[in-house]
Amino acid sequence: MWKVFIRRHSYQSKVAPNREGARLIIRRLQKTVLRILRDPDFRMSKSSFQQKPAEPEPQVDGAQFNVHRNGKPDSNCRTCNDFKSWSKQQRLISNTQAAKEKHIAASEKLTVNAAGVAAPREDCPLDKVRLGISTWGLLHTMAAFYSDNPTDTEKRDMRTFFEVLSRLYPCEYCAKDFRSDIEVNPVNVNSQKDLAMWLCNFHNRVNDKLGKPLFDCSKVNERWRDGWLDGSCD
Ligand SMILES: Cc1cc2nc3c(=O)[nH]c(=O)nc-3n(C[C@H](O)[C@H](O)[C@H](O)COP(=O)(O)OP(=O)(O)OC[C@H]3O[C@@H](n4cnc5c(N)ncnc54)[C@H](O)[C@@H]3O)c2cc1C
Repeated sequence: MWKVFIRRHSYQSKVAPNREGARLIIRRLQKTVLRILRDPDFRMSKSSFQQKPAEPEPQVDGAQFNVHRNGKPDSNCRTCNDFKSWSKQQRLISNTQAAKEKHIAASEKLTVNAAGVAAPREDCPLDKVRLGISTWGLLHTMAAFYSDNPTDTEKRDMRTFFEVLSRLYPCEYCAKDFRSDIEVNPVNVNSQKDLAMWLCNFHNRVNDKLGKPLFDCSKVNERWRDGWLDGSCD
């Protein structure tokens, strides 16, 4: 093979295989060896010795991304791109997707939590339902930790608190019903148990008005102070 190569090059370069010719042949030989190493399909034909135009490098972005070096589609993009380009591309895809989901969620008053699940937004003004849930939480917890033997001051403060709340509760018609209810069923501030039961019954009257199921008031301290007897809150 090398004899053919040397003969052909001596002929092509039209120089005798003297010192100058030998240098030229060695240079071409080096080039040819490099090309054989780079391209296993390389054939030592006459045309092979002519300079080929450089092949464009495959691109890693956009539509080119799924295309292998040989032009065939590749199902596994990690094999057709170096890891750096592949991971950059993956980050771009997932960032774009996350931004889209956040935008849609915001317009629907939803938020996407760490697990990627859409949940109601936490940073908007309270509506009647959320205000109610939060207020009941505060009221029942205050009753849960009220004294078993309250002082006169504690009794007065607690009564005053409910009276003021029934005037200031920021849902006008809720507050109106609240005031009417207190007039008929005065707040019982004699002990923790009495206050918790009074509040539970008041809450049930609101539940009843709204067509909601009534709560079993014998379990009010489990719900708001001690946790359920089955230990599920421990
Ligand atoms: C003083 C007040 C007056 C309101 N008035 C109105 C009104 O007129 N119209 C209106 O639309 N909304 C009103 N609301 C809001 C309404 O009561 C609810 O808070 C809201 O509808 C949300 O209901 P929910 O079913 O999610 O649970 P909520 O009724 O808010 O209850 C929260 C939690 O308390 C527990 N619970 C339920 N019932 C009792 C009970 N009897 N005792 C102890 N714990 C209980 C349950 O575990 C429940 O998950 C009022 C709220 C308050 C605080």
